[in-house]
Amino acid sequence: MADVTGGPSLPQERKLVTSIPGPKSQELLARKNAAVASGVGVALPVFTVAAGGGVMIDADGNSLIDLGSGIAVTGVGNSAPAVVEAVTRQVQQFTHTCFTVTPYDGYVEVAEKLNEVTPGDHDKRSALFNSGAEAVENAIKIARHYTKKNAVVVFDHAYHGRTNLTMGMTAKNMPYKDGFGPFAPELYRVPASYPFRDGLSGAEAAEQAILQIEKQVGAANLAAMIIEPIQGEGGFIEPAEGFLPALQAWANANGVVFILDEVQTGFARTGDLFAANHEGVVPDLVTTAKGIAGGLPLSAVTGRAEIMDSAHSGGLGGTYTGNPIACAAALATIETYERENLTERARQIGAIIDEFFEELAKTDDRIGDIRGRGAMKAVEFVESGSKRPAAALTGAIAKHAGEQGVILLTCGTYGNVVRFLPPLSISDELLREGLEIVADALKANA
Ligand SMILES: *Cc1c(COP(=O)(O)O)cnc(C)c1O
Repeated sequence: MADVTGGPSLPQERKLVTSIPGPKSQELLARKNAAVASGVGVALPVFTVAAGGGVMIDADGNSLIDLGSGIAVTGVGNSAPAVVEAVTRQVQQFTHTCFTVTPYDGYVEVAEKLNEVTPGDHDKRSALFNSGAEAVENAIKIARHYTKKNAVVVFDHAYHGRTNLTMGMTAKNMPYKDGFGPFAPELYRVPASYPFRDGLSGAEAAEQAILQIEKQVGAANLAAMIIEPIQGEGGFIEPAEGFLPALQAWANANGVVFILDEVQTGFARTGDLFAANHEGVVPDLVTTAKGIAGGLPLSAVTGRAEIMDSAHSGGLGGTYTGNPIACAAALATIETYERENLTERARQIGAIIDEFFEELAKTDDRIGDIRGRGAMKAVEFVESGSKRPAAALTGAIAKHAGEQGVILLTCGTYGNVVRFLPPLSISDELLREGLEIVADALKANA
């Protein structure tokens, strides 16, 4: 199996030739358990040999439907031809110099592109990094340097990464924080907007958050406020309309850098190139990663020139930041989102998922909420006739799906959300087949 070529020309089918995980994956899993630190868990223990379009081929020759995109990364599909070509060309030219030793044009071109496509038409600058967490850390560094203030406001249900600073910014204890402290100081958490659970309008939720910030932190101490426009790991929580614009207005009026973490929502995923565009929100800084480079590790902070330029020369960087291969991949990836009109494709995918679960919800009251936008959709499961989170059911659905050859991710502070993040290269047929398996899982766990 090891010589299978990935990409969209793989047969687009769900095909099981062994049980999941098959014998080869089980053998590899035993080696993994003996060699890899146990803290590095896996959601579905099937080992990948190729992927593309909407499928993943495992070591035993099973073909699984991919509804996760490696956590919202392969928006353009795995081994997308334009990405493969760009990476191949770059890897033959040079693989690394360190941009802060001798620079190269690919980095500059990615910065130019990000300055052009991110929300707002003000003068912008970008800086590139490796991971989403690293971008978030740098956005905070920059905001503190610019404002000469320390405090940072984060929200309930937030996820910003696993490094020390971003772990402290992340809300959920297990598995991200438990026993890994102490956490960085000057982080203040305030309520978010969670319409299904708080029942507040956007204006009410914003008023509640702002009041808490003013009373417990004080704008004079506050460098930055950072929020995901749709909260990802926290449960694909789409804030009530008006929430984000109200936060932006308050931050702008109070000398607070308003940062949107679009690491998961960015790059066509939500049916707009960025989720901020939905309500015309314009962040001072935006962090991006995941969908940016077709699977290669790259992240960025993009924002107002006067804020981005406040850090002294040499203050930002890193050995691998803005790696030339990742930059080549990013340019090909962003071009693919535009050329293939993948924002529209994300909306179509969202409509299919909505329609499917709205129908199912008519006869199954464990479907508490269907939400999200575009190809970033989720279903929150509850115990019948209540809003009590149904985490065990959610786990059982993901397990059933995996066994039936569908890669399905869960999320949520309460562990009761199934999230759909298919590659935008998936076919309608494959997507519908994947959703049917979720419906079967619901029946099997009645
Ligand atoms: C995944 C994620 C991060 C962290 O990105 P890594 O590349 O895993 O470090 C940060 N913010 C959000 C919103 C994310 O979804």
